[in-house]
Amino acid sequence: MSMKDNDYMCPKCRGHLNVDGNVIFATRTKRNHKGLLMLSPKVGEYRYKHHDKFQLEKGEMVDFECPICQADLTADKKDHAMILMVGSEDNMEYRLYFSKVAGNRSTYLVANDNVEAFGEDAMDFDELLYD
Ligand SMILES: [Zn+2]
Repeated sequence: MSMKDNDYMCPKCRGHLNVDGNVIFATRTKRNHKGLLMLSPKVGEYRYKHHDKFQLEKGEMVDFECPICQADLTADKKDHAMILMVGSEDNMEYRLYFSKVAGNRSTYLVANDNVEAFGEDAMDFDELLYD
């Protein structure tokens, strides 16, 4: 059985971030540790893969970069990163915001004025605009 994954792109270079069922980021922690993270392409799923020597501490801030053009993916929303997503079912382009804090489960899928929130730590998306 093969199910098509959502497609993810860098908002700056529009390079594809998916490889073989993972979404790949170059990351850097506040302790200045650098490493690659592979996230699930399924929205609202928070497992990730990493090298054994690159560990994240719960609650630490992680900067996400495009592994292709090295753009900082930090969003204009507090403590979140943003990438583009093309839905596998509707072929629509969304902005996907996710928390840069390790262990924080909040993701927002935005198209036009429509916001869908995922994760137990998600809050009112509008509140993120104003703090
Ligand atoms: Zn890029």
